[in-house]
Amino acid sequence: MDYKDYIAEIQDFPIDGVLFRDITPIMQNGKAFRAACNEMVEFAKKVNADVIVGPESRGFIFGCPVAYELEIGFVPIRKPGKLPRATESIEYDLEYGTNELHIHADAIKKGQRVLIIDDLLATGGTVKGTIDLVEKLGGEVVGCNFLIELADLKGRDLLDNYEVNSLIIYQ
Ligand code: 5GP
Repeated sequence: MDYKDYIAEIQDFPIDGVLFRDITPIMQNGKAFRAACNEMVEFAKKVNADVIVGPESRGFIFGCPVAYELEIGFVPIRKPGKLPRATESIEYDLEYGTNELHIHADAIKKGQRVLIIDDLLATGGTVKGTIDLVEKLGGEVVGCNFLIELADLKGRDLLDNYEVNSLIIYQ
């Protein structure tokens, strides 16, 4: 299946100069969405994941079906002020300003095999922050799975030590 047929491209969204890849068409097509999730399930089996971690909010869309299918847990990564119990957090730099990610401090057990799932890999800041949070809690990141990778932004350079699987790569 050519998943690119189900990705819409929007110029100048959310700000001028950005070409935004919209994943909602793939979600609207049951067969394409299921096929993409099934590929992620196969990768999760290959790396023998025992928990899925997904960043807010589109990481939930692909991460939860994989966790459901494998009967394993799903752990959300969220922006500040969203998680109700004690959290571990990390701050990282963006082009302009900083971003902060949180995880519930008891969400990962030491030695758990974690697969990170998100919709898109761009600069890699989000996934690197997520990896750091998982490792702070003692989890082992066994892979990172994306629907889309924007190769020219070189996010993969931050993931040298990890197994990466992207279903669609834009050069
Ligand atoms: P990064 O941190 O790798 O620079 O950016 C990846 C994060 O930003 C992902 O969590 C993703 O949801 C979001 N993101 C950045 N650009 C896009 C885009 O063009 N389309 C979508 N769907 N998400 C994007």
